[in-house]
Amino acid sequence: MVIWIMADTPSKAAAEVDAVIVGAGFAGLYMLHRLRGLGFSARVFEAATGVGGTWYWNRYPGARCDVESLEYSYTFSEELDREWRWTERYASQPEILRYLNHVADRFDLRRDIQFETTVTAAVFAEAQNVWNVETSRGERVQAKFCIMATGCLSSAKKPDFKGLEDFAGKWYQTSHWPHEGVDFSGQRVAVIGTGSSAIQAIPIIAEQAAHLFVFQRTPNYSVPARNGPITPEVMDDWNLNRARYRQRARASAFPILSIDMADRSALATPPEERERAYEERWQRGGVCLAGAFSDLIVNQEANDTAAEFVRAKIRETARDPAVAEKLAPKDYPFGTKRLCVDTGYYATFNRENVSLIDLRCTPIEAVTPQGLRTSDASFELDSIVFATGFDAMTGALTKIDIRGNGGVALKEKWSSGPRTFLGIMTAGFPNLFTITGPGSPSVLSNMVVAIEQHADWIASCLTYLRERQLVKIEATEQAENEWVAHVNEVANATLYPRANSWYVGANVPGKPRVFMPYIGGFGSYSEKCDEVAEKGYAGFALSAHR
Ligand SMILES: Cc1cc2nc3c(=O)[nH]c(=O)nc-3n(C[C@H](O)[C@H](O)[C@H](O)COP(=O)(O)OP(=O)(O)OC[C@H]3O[C@@H](n4cnc5c(N)ncnc54)[C@H](O)[C@@H]3O)c2cc1C
Repeated sequence: MVIWIMADTPSKAAAEVDAVIVGAGFAGLYMLHRLRGLGFSARVFEAATGVGGTWYWNRYPGARCDVESLEYSYTFSEELDREWRWTERYASQPEILRYLNHVADRFDLRRDIQFETTVTAAVFAEAQNVWNVETSRGERVQAKFCIMATGCLSSAKKPDFKGLEDFAGKWYQTSHWPHEGVDFSGQRVAVIGTGSSAIQAIPIIAEQAAHLFVFQRTPNYSVPARNGPITPEVMDDWNLNRARYRQRARASAFPILSIDMADRSALATPPEERERAYEERWQRGGVCLAGAFSDLIVNQEANDTAAEFVRAKIRETARDPAVAEKLAPKDYPFGTKRLCVDTGYYATFNRENVSLIDLRCTPIEAVTPQGLRTSDASFELDSIVFATGFDAMTGALTKIDIRGNGGVALKEKWSSGPRTFLGIMTAGFPNLFTITGPGSPSVLSNMVVAIEQHADWIASCLTYLRERQLVKIEATEQAENEWVAHVNEVANATLYPRANSWYVGANVPGKPRVFMPYIGGFGSYSEKCDEVAEKGYAGFALSAHR
């Protein structure tokens, strides 16, 4: 269905759809719903066989959200919000996937989503002012706007270990888990990697496997989830105050209420009181430990107090002192890699059937037909689980052959690191939007809140253009340069860039080291986005002509 015709030459062919949306996770589903509601035509392409994005792909044992379920859900529909009942403080992957399927059905979204279809290319035709979008099925769709809802953590790193093709056992990736599940009973299993996914999966695999070998390169700070059913008291309070809570979250620096960001300095607090504060938050569980003091992320000395607190907890929990020392992170500040939230992770290393192998001392040399060889030992294995992370934030975008003005490839433009204005658009690529793109708060926030804010902004922007018969919007080089400088400036005022994290691309060999998310605070960021829109999209060039 074609809803509107290009303003300058109505006689020429119009786009087949107003917008192509790539991806059907939280972002793509909501974007489709918003655009439809405004009378735009849209077509969604999704590589998977169903909706859900992250929650479709990551079906590994123990997968669940680490932002509390009541917060990690859409806010756009009060009816949806009220009718859906989360059962646990942190919903499991199957429950979140059920929720997203419910959303797709409730808002009748599936009829505009084409599954099992990967977008392989999107090329901007300047003369016609349209995006030519190509798919793995050989289709070609013309769209006025192209909206990338491709996800920040959707492009998994492929395991590239020498010898993997000759491994006689089975191997899995946490990010592409078999739908039928895996039974590790009686098996010798290796988990490679100790990031968020591994930390969730390891305690559960350890309960099944005959022996579990955990291969760790970088230890992570992890806090106890203290998961459990949502109590009637919590639910009543949420029902009574949800609008106020949601509003407060949206206005805060990290739109996650449960962080409960304190307004006092760790260094200015007497040591005993400080320990009490850490202990209280450790007992409360979840990411609130990171909010114990306001200077943890900007002052190394303050940060050391939190880091030492977690290290002491690890030493208290893991009974073998040598294992505890390996598990305790020491060479990067607390909270500067995504804080992991676990259920029984450190205690798992007290099990007789679990061994920790420190890859910094004895790196993996190769996968062998029987298992795996490090520099000092061989391990016989039935299964290997790779939890080796993602080419975060840019991977899903640069995988697509995206070409803007003059045929310039996005990959080329971003070869020294991503450049955007507000994380929403990049200069030279008119009418191309990125939901939670690099340069926006995205992964440093509650992603659902960040997604809704971007999708709403994009929807308003398209409406603004339509009302004024404008056909093109593009970030200016100047606005982009200033924004990139600002993103770097605020990042460099924190301890974040000191860690070799996926936030800086350090987990992907050859990826330029750039701090990708915006750390300047979600509330002020969304105010900036609103201000830009109110000023007639200041920092963007708008045009009624091709
Ligand atoms: C294990 C795990 C746990 C997480 N837990 C939390 C949490 O607790 N809180 C939080 O805020 N965030 C969490 N996240 C981040 C999570 O990714 C976001 O919260 C959210 O799900 C992102 O939604 P999205 O729609 O933007 O992207 P995704 O859910 O990643 O969806 C993107 C979709 O786009 C599709 N796609 C990509 N490229 C193409 C292409 N070229 N053609 C067609 N389809 C394509 C993918 O197949 C995917 O389905 C977690 C991430 C992971 C991996």
